[in-house]
Amino acid sequence: MRKHAAVLLVTLASASTAAITVRAQTQAAASIKANAPAGWPINHTLVVLDPAHGGTEGGAVLGDHVAEKDITLAVASKLRAALSTNGFNVVSTRDAGGSDPLSTDQRAEIANRTHAAACIVLHATATGSGVHLYTSDLQAPNQDPDLTAGFVPIPWDAAQSGFVRQSADLAVSLSTALGKAHLPATLGQAPIRPLNNLMCPAVAIELSPLAAPGAAATPATDGNYQQQVVNALTVALRAWRDSPALLPVADASTGGQTSAQSKAIAAAEATGRAAAKVRTSPTPPPAQKGPQ
Ligand SMILES: [Zn+2]
Repeated sequence: MRKHAAVLLVTLASASTAAITVRAQTQAAASIKANAPAGWPINHTLVVLDPAHGGTEGGAVLGDHVAEKDITLAVASKLRAALSTNGFNVVSTRDAGGSDPLSTDQRAEIANRTHAAACIVLHATATGSGVHLYTSDLQAPNQDPDLTAGFVPIPWDAAQSGFVRQSADLAVSLSTALGKAHLPATLGQAPIRPLNNLMCPAVAIELSPLAAPGAAATPATDGNYQQQVVNALTVALRAWRDSPALLPVADASTGGQTSAQSKAIAAAEATGRAAAKVRTSPTPPPAQKGPQ
């Protein structure tokens, strides 16, 4: 990071101009790419984990009276450890002991402040088979949002729309890594809260029992099974943090630029647009507390 900061100092004066020029040249092509919205800097090494349920809200009951809230927390804990070992910073919306779980709106607010490379919502169930990966059911906009233009009102319930292509890419990456680890995964779209409110590449992961031919299925409560899933997710997220999909639209479209130049422009945009970024973040309706 120190090296990038030095590059930034040298190129700061010209970087913004270069970025704007490139964006103008490539706007048509950019609208079909799966890149971060312009003006929304992404922290490539930050992952948000949202272990669903908590406190008095236990979620589903798995196996011998095990509450889903405890499984999601166990998986989040394993995933946090694995990601931390691999150089990620992890923000969790819930940890052990919390008696009053945050609403899904509050969880989304926490996530949206981080500019995370990935937001992972965790659920578990006693039914179905394998690992279910869900992304938002919102449609991608015809044109990628440009958040560099100062105040851009973003509806709370459609905050994810500018990220749905990236979320789909992330889900495929996670699914592929699970498949390579011989863990069957299925992809789907569903308005699982708070997916639609998240401003990050976001995937909800539901852990179902692992079926095995001629043997009893391994339940989601099984620690070994959880760890296998976590290991596969970590492999995928390690690759994901270097994905071109995490570069801003204009940045990723610059075929002739070096990586250092691209990063300097991204950093310059992040610095120069800090004020706009804060005003751009949507806020939830005050009285709304959605179902978990
Ligand atoms: Zn659940």
